[in-house]
Amino acid sequence: HFITFEGIDGSGKSTQARRLAESLADRGTEVVLTREPGGSPGAEEIRQLILTGDPGRWSAETEILLFTAARRDHLERTIRPALARGATVICDRFADSTRIYQGATRGDLRALVDSLHAQMIGIEPDLTFVIDMDPRVALGRGLSREGAEQRFEDMGLPFQETIRHGFLRLAREDSHRCVLIDGGREAGEVAAEIRVVTEGRRAA
Ligand code: C5P
Repeated sequence: HFITFEGIDGSGKSTQARRLAESLADRGTEVVLTREPGGSPGAEEIRQLILTGDPGRWSAETEILLFTAARRDHLERTIRPALARGATVICDRFADSTRIYQGATRGDLRALVDSLHAQMIGIEPDLTFVIDMDPRVALGRGLSREGAEQRFEDMGLPFQETIRHGFLRLAREDSHRCVLIDGGREAGEVAAEIRVVTEGRRAA
């Protein structure tokens, strides 16, 4: 199984990905917990190229190529080998983030994102949890991850609102693969819902 978590910065998706990984591992499933951009040594290097330094360093087109290159390496080195040996792969962000983030800033490049995905990646998760949260609440919770708060503030609330709505639309459009989760609740409650949904899918 290939399970991904999507949502705005500070939505709690990384915590929830980790909690689901722990709960499946406790039940004896082999789990590979990974993240994007990154998730393989080469892709982590590309992550540094994308996320550090001058934000205007890359054009939107180059950035999409870098995200896709990172994803291809992640797929070859981490995701495919894990799925091939029967492990469950849980990934914090995947192609939906590129669709939504890059699509939000440069809607005219969505076709490029889709065609690169079709040619170079070609797989979709079995299940995607879209953790929804009001960006004001996300910001208020304090973003603990390195650099996350700075990026969040640089981009501003209106940007985060746009991303939020992009994810909500995605969850509506692909309502079989995507499950919308209200991330505004206590983390244990959110984790319990995610566990129930995952078990339901695995049993199906
Ligand atoms: O989830 P994480 O904090 O690791 O994501 C890193 C950042 O990269 C996010 O803040 C997000 O804004 C950005 N990002 C992006 N386009 C993607 C994936 C992530 O702009 N395709």
